[in-house]
Amino acid sequence: MSVSYWLQNSSADRRVTADVCIVGAGIMGLSTAYWLNQEDPNLKVVVLEKGQMGTGATGRNAGFITCGSVEHFNRMVTKHGEKTALEIWQFAEHNMALLKSEILSKNVPVTSFQQRGAFSLAASQSEYDELKQVSRLMASHSIPVEELDEAAVRARLGAEGFVGGIKYLRDGEANPIELLRSIGSQSSFQLYENCEVQGVDVEGGDRIVRTNDVEVTCTLVIYCCNGYSAAVDNYFEDKVYPTRGQVMVLEPVAPFMEGPCYANFYLDYFRQLQDGSLLIGGFRQLESDTEKGFSDHTTEKIQEALHSFVRQHLPQYQKAKVSHRWAGVMGFSSDGEPMIGSLPTDSQIYFGAGFTGHGIGMAFHTAKTLVDLIFDRPIPDWLSAKRF
Ligand SMILES: Cc1cc2nc3c(=O)[nH]c(=O)nc-3n(C[C@H](O)[C@H](O)[C@H](O)COP(=O)(O)OP(=O)(O)OC[C@H]3O[C@@H](n4cnc5c(N)ncnc54)[C@H](O)[C@@H]3O)c2cc1C
Repeated sequence: MSVSYWLQNSSADRRVTADVCIVGAGIMGLSTAYWLNQEDPNLKVVVLEKGQMGTGATGRNAGFITCGSVEHFNRMVTKHGEKTALEIWQFAEHNMALLKSEILSKNVPVTSFQQRGAFSLAASQSEYDELKQVSRLMASHSIPVEELDEAAVRARLGAEGFVGGIKYLRDGEANPIELLRSIGSQSSFQLYENCEVQGVDVEGGDRIVRTNDVEVTCTLVIYCCNGYSAAVDNYFEDKVYPTRGQVMVLEPVAPFMEGPCYANFYLDYFRQLQDGSLLIGGFRQLESDTEKGFSDHTTEKIQEALHSFVRQHLPQYQKAKVSHRWAGVMGFSSDGEPMIGSLPTDSQIYFGAGFTGHGIGMAFHTAKTLVDLIFDRPIPDWLSAKRF
């Protein structure tokens, strides 16, 4: 975004200096601050956020902490090859391990965190056949997974209209804002909210980050803007596609689900929250044109599709009252995996983006790997933005 003379109001007392300026206070931004602190506790880190901490996708998601990717494992193998698909899966599993050892086991409790596995359910025989193939393939790589038939889905998940499914035993779930606050409270940085970055100037070896409010002079800038990346720098225009995701929540009912569920090849999902509320999301495939862009409004068509999912698969709750509806902007990459790197035009500006709807399961480890890149350690090819 550019800024007019009239709207720029940085005054001398709003000039800040730092070693590193992170743009974006979502899970990627705060995890990056965390890992920079671990690398060098003396680094002065500033985080700039155009809204408030977590008001991007991090505070609007469904809270699945997924081990793996955005598609069934066999499809990852077809897309990336067996070795890389396994590496990506293990990277996400390590994300969970790192969250547990670095954040969740420390003294800032995330009471909403549970690791009771997650399910992928098939409404068609062909998806069920594929899921059984997936389960065998995963088992051959020692990834723990369990198969369920129609009766088991009904008994353990209270869901109708599915012919079967599989359970990923290591997946978790949490309130993503509680998780974000925990990461933030275990990191040291100065946060400026309501500061929208409008450009970065070069001044010798320094970078001057301009916002509508503060102006930060620093050595390194790190863009952690995910779905908004293309609005920050046009390098991202053909790499990170802003894509809307929508959710609906029904008022609490008695606990009935063994764990959170995906359906329809990860496109749709539902989960019972700790207070018994039912969260249902997905269906962006119904309106692929309108679900692109930076809008975070809900639409009638998709909200109705979410309701119709309840009528079809959870008919016992079709009369439950809707308590919340919302939407958020995700950053999709063309191969479904995140990317880290530095801008070809400025090697002092780094970035991490493109989580394609699974940043809660990937960002903490991605941020650690971004810090590896900054400190000249090797990173996996599949995560490098150089692949595009
Ligand atoms: C409805 C929905 C459901 C989802 N469900 C899941 C799920 O269950 N599990 C999962 O793993 N993932 C899920 N996701 C995706 C997940 O939320 C994202 O992958 C993750 O939050 C990305 O984190 P981030 O920090 O990279 O981006 P964000 O959280 O979007 O943070 C980017 C931040 O940058 C700020 N920003 C942008 N431009 C500027 C600027 N110019 N100046 C200053 N600040 C700026 C934004 O305000 C924002 O706060 C879902 C997303 C949505 C929308």
